Amino acid sequence: MPLRILPSIEVLSNELAKSSSLPKALITSFVRQEVNHWRQTLLAAKASEKEIENQDQHSREAIEKDIRTKLNAFGASRLQHVINATGVVIHTNLGRSPLGDRVFEALRRVATGYSNLEFNLPGGDRGKRAGYLETALACLLEAPAATAVNNCAAALVLILRTLTTPEKNEVIVSRSELVEIGGGFRVPEILETSGAKLVEVGATNKTHLKDYAKAITPKTALILKVHRSNFYIEGFTDEPEVKDISELAKQHGIPLVEDIGSGAMMNTEDLAPLDHESTPQEALRNGIDLVCFSGDKLLGGPQSGIIAGRADLVAKVKQEPFFRAVRCDKLILTLLQECIEEYLRTQANPASTDIPALQFLATSPDKLTERAQAIRAALPTELQEYIQVETSTARTGGGTMPKSAIPSTALSLTHPTLKVTRLAKSLRLGTPAIVGYTVENALKLDLRTVFEQQDKAITQRLTDILSENSAS
Ligand SMILES: *Cc1c(COP(=O)(O)O)cnc(C)c1O
Repeated sequence: MPLRILPSIEVLSNELAKSSSLPKALITSFVRQEVNHWRQTLLAAKASEKEIENQDQHSREAIEKDIRTKLNAFGASRLQHVINATGVVIHTNLGRSPLGDRVFEALRRVATGYSNLEFNLPGGDRGKRAGYLETALACLLEAPAATAVNNCAAALVLILRTLTTPEKNEVIVSRSELVEIGGGFRVPEILETSGAKLVEVGATNKTHLKDYAKAITPKTALILKVHRSNFYIEGFTDEPEVKDISELAKQHGIPLVEDIGSGAMMNTEDLAPLDHESTPQEALRNGIDLVCFSGDKLLGGPQSGIIAGRADLVAKVKQEPFFRAVRCDKLILTLLQECIEEYLRTQANPASTDIPALQFLATSPDKLTERAQAIRAALPTELQEYIQVETSTARTGGGTMPKSAIPSTALSLTHPTLKVTRLAKSLRLGTPAIVGYTVENALKLDLRTVFEQQDKAITQRLTDILSENSAS
């Protein structure tokens, strides 16, 4: 039934298309859905058309305004460039690690043409996919063998599927490591979906070697260690050395696997005042048979999951049919290849490595303060009073190093009439979008996670927003 109060889909779509950069067909489809939604809402209220027309909160204008607001919000959800002024270096909601320019340039060459993805150029015949990358990864990780899949969650599922069978499916995990990583990734559930049977050992705060030893049965498929990425336990705690668990696992001929999460390639304590994050190299040296970690956390590469360790186990993982379902595409393989070569060439020295996450962690607070002062000084004089340069605390984030607190510098914005929530929203909704964080009535923009070449854009957007609001 047509309702006269509802806007015409065609007329409204045409009007909205004038001020929107979204494809017209998408706008029309969106408007149609919203108008239909309004129709159902109005009819469900069981009012007669006359009554509906008389209810002023449901005026045609109100409906149009509602649809316009929703379309704007929908448009803002389009994947786009954002300036991360949160001070959280690996911000999962903001796309984790950004890629370096050099790394990205290589992608353009491979992505916009054909490549030797599975082609052997010397022989002119079919080649091995990712062979070069796997060798480079193994070299960097000081591992007998390595490979990569779509993400660390997939890597873990793949490892569990490979190393368990219906007859031998028990996986031993310490109760202190039954982690939820976020986004619904919980170790017990991952085990369940992989067909493995979880065997919990120890207590939340203490696990002893004998707990592992007692849990081993003829049905034990592997021992799994999971890095406590996003929390820490302190106080009356204890856990066996990896070397000792490894010894035990070897005695029983069962593999020892560790999900180490973030994949730091350097001593994190050399970059910033941070704790030491254990590296894949250390894990393997301590006797872990197979490690997996994310490619887009502290490694600073594209989203991927790296698996490294014993050659026979890596080979087995690659033969598992599920590997095909989680293998990387050529774009990711190219980015990873470039990223791994960066490390091999520069030994993770942030001064020369094209990995923004490393550079962000290593920037001195003084340098950030200089930049903050320059941004403030570049604003029109009458706007400078709304901005203070302050010390702040940045974090590694992305479920890595929960205790991390890196000295940093922030611009702190306060405005006498403009509410901090409005200010934050205005910054988020412009181009480029800027995301900071609020503390009481101040909006903070931490410069540790801002590229230096973005300082200009920040100056511009602050000038626009603050002068608009001084005028009114
Ligand atoms: C982050 C994390 C994961 C998930 O990694 P993705 O690459 O996002 O799938 C798994 N395990 C640990 C320990 C982590 O820290």
